[in-house]
Amino acid sequence: MPATVESFQLDHTKVKAPYVRFITVEEGPAGDKISNYDIRLVQPNTNAIPTAGLHTIEHLLAGLLRERIPGYIDCSPFGCRTGFHLLTWGEHTTRDIAVALKESLEIIVNDVKEGEVPATDIYSCGNYRDHSLFSAKEWCKQILAEGISEDAWERKVV
Ligand SMILES: [Zn+2]
Repeated sequence: MPATVESFQLDHTKVKAPYVRFITVEEGPAGDKISNYDIRLVQPNTNAIPTAGLHTIEHLLAGLLRERIPGYIDCSPFGCRTGFHLLTWGEHTTRDIAVALKESLEIIVNDVKEGEVPATDIYSCGNYRDHSLFSAKEWCKQILAEGISEDAWERKVV
């Protein structure tokens, strides 16, 4: 029997993106805790961010969220291209994550210039040609205009 995957149990028709959702906290043998969050940027089965824009958002969030979230481990895109998994040491409120995400997307829209996306060369990326800062900015603008909710089912925009 395959193990139960929490994300496969989520009713994707009931959620209201953009949102941050706490998934689980797991405790290691030494008592350290790792939290997992669902960072849903667009509405499942309605929208999907094209790969080049999503890839650029990924590269930028790797630095921007790391600077804003204590214990940041990783932020990786979903295969469905509607958002990211975020892993952190310790526990954070979804509100704190949503605020950090909002600040990061604002920086992508307002401050990041062509040539400033990190690690977009043949040595440091596995598909360096597949990036679009233009697409990343356009999608981030739309996500910010809709507002990022700290709750997946009720709109509680931060
Ligand atoms: Zn890459």
